Amino acid sequence: MRGGFTIWLTGLSGAGKTTLARALEATLAARGRRVERLDGDVVREHLSQGLGFSKADRDTNIRRIAFVAELLTRHGAVAIVAAISPYRAARDAARQRIGAFVEVYVRCSLDILVQRDVKGLYARALRGEVAHFTGVSDPYEEPLRPEVVVDTERESVDESAAKVVAALERLGYLEQPAAALVRPAGRSGSDGAAPDKSRPEGRASEPDSWPSLQVGGSLALQPARAPAAGAALRRRTPDAIVRQARALADRGPQDVLRWALATFPRERLAVCTSFQVDGMAILDMAWRVDPRVRVFTIDTGRLPAETYATIEAVRARYGIAVEVYLPDHAEVAALVSAGGPNLFYRSVPLRLRCCEVRKVHPTRRVLGGLDAWITGLRRDQYVTRSHVETVELDAEHGGLVKVNPLARWTEAQVWDYVRAHDVPVHPLYAQGYTSIGCAPCTRPVAPGEGARAGRWWWETDAPKECGMHCAVELVGPTPGQEEKA
Ligand code: SF4
Repeated sequence: MRGGFTIWLTGLSGAGKTTLARALEATLAARGRRVERLDGDVVREHLSQGLGFSKADRDTNIRRIAFVAELLTRHGAVAIVAAISPYRAARDAARQRIGAFVEVYVRCSLDILVQRDVKGLYARALRGEVAHFTGVSDPYEEPLRPEVVVDTERESVDESAAKVVAALERLGYLEQPAAALVRPAGRSGSDGAAPDKSRPEGRASEPDSWPSLQVGGSLALQPARAPAAGAALRRRTPDAIVRQARALADRGPQDVLRWALATFPRERLAVCTSFQVDGMAILDMAWRVDPRVRVFTIDTGRLPAETYATIEAVRARYGIAVEVYLPDHAEVAALVSAGGPNLFYRSVPLRLRCCEVRKVHPTRRVLGGLDAWITGLRRDQYVTRSHVETVELDAEHGGLVKVNPLARWTEAQVWDYVRAHDVPVHPLYAQGYTSIGCAPCTRPVAPGEGARAGRWWWETDAPKECGMHCAVELVGPTPGQEEKA
């Protein structure tokens, strides 16, 4: 196992620690490292709730972060800490505890921080209206001998990330980048790296911007999320991303999710689930990487009551506001008025037409607002899914990126994960269901039957698909004309 290490980003609020952490996370994950990011405000939310901003409380917070970072480091992961950590002694204690420790001073002048601070908190602190504001009414002790200093006033995000990566290579923490998947663009010449071929030729290095402060009434100030990933994404086409992500095929689902969540802006990426066991495993894994991950589902209007109970369980357990999308009511009204509520039993084309209206169309509408989606598809679910790739181009939905972290997992692996992590399980599994969709189209399977045999069980000559994931013939007849079809 390759040795773990901790990258400790310290600096004032708004200097760009989180932005840089996300850029480093993407780069290191793409180079095959297991990465965990410990962000100051996330830690305060989950590990240090109730702590304030006195020196004693800040020191306690840093000790807790160092404890977690040490565990991660000891087990071979890369821990990226992004925390103001204003006191030198606390940082030095963390260094001593962790050992494999790379301190990065994220430097930015107060003038620029005031300009970036759209909420005006620095200005308020300078007027004496905010107590314990680091760098204004509380001290910030600059590192004396950090391994790296990045200057976010003068450098782009990519340049700062490249500096850190070069230092990691120089210090022996990181292998030379022979097979790097995602290189920070615009690298300085200091590490002799090849230019980023994905950048359009003849285009000058465009500095990524450091974000403005976005704060919510707390002094745990953090910049807005991940423009570094977004900017990098804008320079790469989806098929280039998929090509570069090929090496992820052999990585575990958690690594794939970390890569996806670090690569795409949060608002442009979402987990799609119907709350079956695969989707629940993915949801749990993604939530552990980013508790604010977007999750959406399609409510066809014909779901079993147990699915709604599972949505409630997800909301309670994870605090995720599941985005529920419905079919177009006019389309459903026209379909049901003409064909009746149970038209799907009459023919395969009518069933596909119902799936198209209730599932495929709303899915397409959601995907129109995304750069990438994450699914729980596995190769061994059904013959039509046997070629699913871990990261693939979704040509059927306009060429966005489709991430299937469980593609190479077996059903047994999924259940092992769900049991080990106490993930909520859809109640219908306990009644003999092995695949769960709409109530009138799903039933339990008999021993020895295939996992999807309970879906559209009355059909004998059609794939067990609705068209959401795999292209099937969707041009069904207009209800009422099916006899001619
Ligand atoms: S699974 Fe059945 S009820 Fe649900 S959309 Fe498809 S045909 Fe309609």
